[in-house]
Amino acid sequence: MQEKHPPKPSDLPSLTPQDYQDMLMNAPVGVFSSTPEGCFLYLNVALAEIFGYASPQEMMASVKNVAKDLYADSKDRKKVLRLLEENKAVRNHECRFVRKNNTTFWASYSVRAVHNEKDGKLYYQGFLSDITERILEKEALLRTQFAMDRAPDNILWINSAGHIVYANHSSCNSLGYSRDELLSMKIFDIDPEFSPNQWEQHKEKRRRVGTMAFESRHITKDGRIFPVEIRSNHFEYNGDELSLTFDRDITERKRTEQALRESETRFRQLFKMAPTPMAHVSKDGRVLDVNDAFLDIIGYSTDDAPTLEQAWQLSFEDSDQKEIMSTKWQNELERALAENDDQIEAMECPVRCKDGNERRMIISTRVIEDRIILSFFDITAHHQAEAERKRLQEQLHQSQKLEAVGVLAGGVAHDFNNMLGTIMGYAELAINDTGPADPVRGKIEAILDAARRSASLTRQLLAFARKQTIEPVVFDLNTAVEGIMEMIRRLIGEHIELAWLPGDTPCTICMDPVQLDQILVNLCVNARDAIADIGRITIETNAVSFDADYCQTHAEFLPGDYVLLAVSDNGCGMANETLSNIFEPFFTTKGMGMGMGMGTGMGLSTVYGIVRQNQGFINVYSEPEKGTTFRIYLPRSAADSAEAKPQRTETIRKSRGETILIVEDEPMLLELGMMMLQQLGYSVIAAATPHEAIQAVRENAGEIQLFITDVVMPEMTGRDLAERLQEIRPD
Ligand code: ADP
Repeated sequence: MQEKHPPKPSDLPSLTPQDYQDMLMNAPVGVFSSTPEGCFLYLNVALAEIFGYASPQEMMASVKNVAKDLYADSKDRKKVLRLLEENKAVRNHECRFVRKNNTTFWASYSVRAVHNEKDGKLYYQGFLSDITERILEKEALLRTQFAMDRAPDNILWINSAGHIVYANHSSCNSLGYSRDELLSMKIFDIDPEFSPNQWEQHKEKRRRVGTMAFESRHITKDGRIFPVEIRSNHFEYNGDELSLTFDRDITERKRTEQALRESETRFRQLFKMAPTPMAHVSKDGRVLDVNDAFLDIIGYSTDDAPTLEQAWQLSFEDSDQKEIMSTKWQNELERALAENDDQIEAMECPVRCKDGNERRMIISTRVIEDRIILSFFDITAHHQAEAERKRLQEQLHQSQKLEAVGVLAGGVAHDFNNMLGTIMGYAELAINDTGPADPVRGKIEAILDAARRSASLTRQLLAFARKQTIEPVVFDLNTAVEGIMEMIRRLIGEHIELAWLPGDTPCTICMDPVQLDQILVNLCVNARDAIADIGRITIETNAVSFDADYCQTHAEFLPGDYVLLAVSDNGCGMANETLSNIFEPFFTTKGMGMGMGMGTGMGLSTVYGIVRQNQGFINVYSEPEKGTTFRIYLPRSAADSAEAKPQRTETIRKSRGETILIVEDEPMLLELGMMMLQQLGYSVIAAATPHEAIQAVRENAGEIQLFITDVVMPEMTGRDLAERLQEIRPD
């Protein structure tokens, strides 16, 4: 049987004093003895090594006073010496000592005073071991613990079964439990997201990946649940799987995120639904999004134009703005970003929409943090209205000018016509007085010819001034045009094709048929002159109606039913400069004169005057090298049937003894008229004013059979005078 108890001292093998000395000398702790005065009596190898000496001998020789030379702190030395003087043992005192190289270290130190039985002297005997490593470890542990406790995050150590084995100060605070309470709880008590089953799965995954970051919820002692962000680290120790988790309360962050999401949603909704076309662009020029109005009006999506540069390319496709816009915008953007300016100067420019339409837009750019918002303000309507206003103003200006010129020309032409009447009258009388062989006859005929041509010109002026005396009748335009077609064909020559496209509906109008001839002849002659070689003239008619809307955008037009008479040619056309002057009397590009190919500048002014006199309107469309179309609108007449043109008698009936009353305010014409009528054998009563005429009728009531009058006179018109005379002489 083996001994169960430790051997008794008597059982030990006997050791020699040398054996004991060797044991002491090689013991793993420092052993020493010294005199109370501080002189080493003995020290072993371990002590010398601890203090950094090569051997006990070296240390013994170097250290003169144990107490003074070796303690790092004098307080420790004094304390130890006092205890020894009081004959008390010092046990496991921890203090710092100084090594040979002056560095310090921690040691655990026991010493006591011993009386030598042989010499009766007192000496000290002690043991010392280096505990620096343990002290440093303890310090490190304390620091770590302190840091964990003061960390702003909640720190928990959780063991494999889910028990909380460590909780820092912050965890206690945020969960509302004391540390002891927490250390008696499991993770499932504070995290409602974890069931034991899920904990197993979580551990399994954490084992694989080492560290896991996720969001969960924690529940406080008083039942409040709050969101947390967790970092859980896998740690194996002594065969257990531990989890070191750092978690933090993210209530505030969640709230901010939610607010941000809501504001983002609001921004998106506003952006989407804003009535203004808008595009959202990144700072490097990518088009991130466009809103509904952008898609509706401009039409390009981010698929069509993923970058702003491509968007500019599309928007200014065929415009010289392309280069200018993209560079200008780029420069402005760079400047704004550099200067931290949130706004870029708004630019007005035409934008080509996906449907091909060009719209006028003001583009404004805003830099909002990392987004750039472009908004497009469509001013097309405003722009068009402005252009329309200018056009109408010009139209009005033009017609006012023509009106003024008309008044002026009318006044002159009226007097001039009277003079010419006199000249022609006397010339005719003079011819009647000369025989066919008379040498003067040819000269008078030349005078008469020149006067007739001048008279024709003045007639045109009168027509322009709407002073032409007319005999309106109701007739069908189509029939009338057909009647004059042959004459026009001869007028324009064979090299020009003449197309006649009458409208289906009857085109009844009420005007002097002579004026219609004048219009057609003048327009066709101009069309002929505009065609250099071969070409085509088209005459069209149609029934049209204008409503109030149309008339608002066309100066001078009035709502109602009209007949359209259009004359088009594919000749040289006109530039705008010519176009704006064509209705002015004496405006011509053909060179002034009476010869062939020369212009008088009266053709279109006559047409204009006639159309206006008949309450009609005239429009002209012309493009250089393409041709010209004149559209004349004459009021449609309600009368169904067209009356025949009144027959004009060519021969003048000689007198059978009748008396004629002639009224004329121009004395020369009055005299001429008298002479001509008298030559035909009539008795003539002449009156220079309407009042004289009334007087004459009163005095010669029964005698007068016919009354001839000038129309335009100072006191009253010829028509008014006729009415007055009819009152006196109803028969
Ligand atoms: P005239 O024919 O004597 O020149 P008008 O008043 O008839 O006078 O015409 C004025 C000017 O208008 C013409 O000189 C010509 O420049 C221009 N014009 C008129 N009609 C046409 C047309 N059909 N094509 C091109 N130019 C025209």
